[in-house]
Amino acid sequence: KIETRQLAKVYHGQQVLKSIDFSISPGEVKAVLGPSGSGKSTMLRLMSLLEASDGGVILLDGKELGVEVVNGRARPSTEIELARQRTRLGFVFQSFNLFPHMNVMENLLLGPTAVFRKPRKEAQYEAEVLLKRVGLIDHCNKFPSELSGGQQQRVAIARALIMSPEVMFFDEPTSALDPELVREVLNVMEDLADSGMTMVVVTHETGFAREVSDHVVLFNEGRIVEEATPDNFFSADAPLPVKQFLQHVM
Ligand code: ATP
Ligand code: MG
Repeated sequence: KIETRQLAKVYHGQQVLKSIDFSISPGEVKAVLGPSGSGKSTMLRLMSLLEASDGGVILLDGKELGVEVVNGRARPSTEIELARQRTRLGFVFQSFNLFPHMNVMENLLLGPTAVFRKPRKEAQYEAEVLLKRVGLIDHCNKFPSELSGGQQQRVAIARALIMSPEVMFFDEPTSALDPELVREVLNVMEDLADSGMTMVVVTHETGFAREVSDHVVLFNEGRIVEEATPDNFFSADAPLPVKQFLQHVM
């Protein structure tokens, strides 16, 4: 289980996250919706330890992330400790972020061999299983520039999964894709959800939120203003802020 308590972030004197209490249980899928600039990506970056918060805590299975207790005293985690904690948290970016100078297989092998010191053979076997799962085993020797956006994003998902994360964060994973490539990525995410992965998905795909998520969370101006099951969220008697938001996006 991963949760935040009173998570806060300030940029240039402007508070963009205001006391966010967010939690997700094992196997749960939460869709995060909200207008541009409402703080969705910021929460994801903080929860996945890509950036430090300015207040509040992040707990993974009850243990605070980013902080170590030494001789009864709490101190910020070192970069090495943070790197180790980050391996438990998978992240998929809107812009894929594959290593352009490495082929697909090398993109997947880097994490397990460099961070976990796994034997290359073992990592290669795991990479093959994952590449089959996302339908890209035939492309394992290609470079990112030789792949479509949808294929690159599926590689990015496989590359995150090979670290066996406890939670997967997705930040608008289909927003940079041509419309005809969105489905293949959503299908992979749907399979992942069905397999029991814990997922936090920032998305504008209301169809995905409705059909795949267990809960939908609505952000507005740095706060969570609503959380509901998809049935309630997308129903005629949803609260006013939800209806107002959906009117704009649908
Ligand atoms: P979008 O739907 O457009 O992706 P979002 O909900 O993900 O929006 P964030 O990217 O979290 O919103 O941004 C929240 C606020 O914080 C915005 O006002 C944004 O301008 C500001 N912000 C985000 N990142 C930074 C940064 N690195 N430096 C300064 N301000 C930032
Ligand atoms: Mg964003």
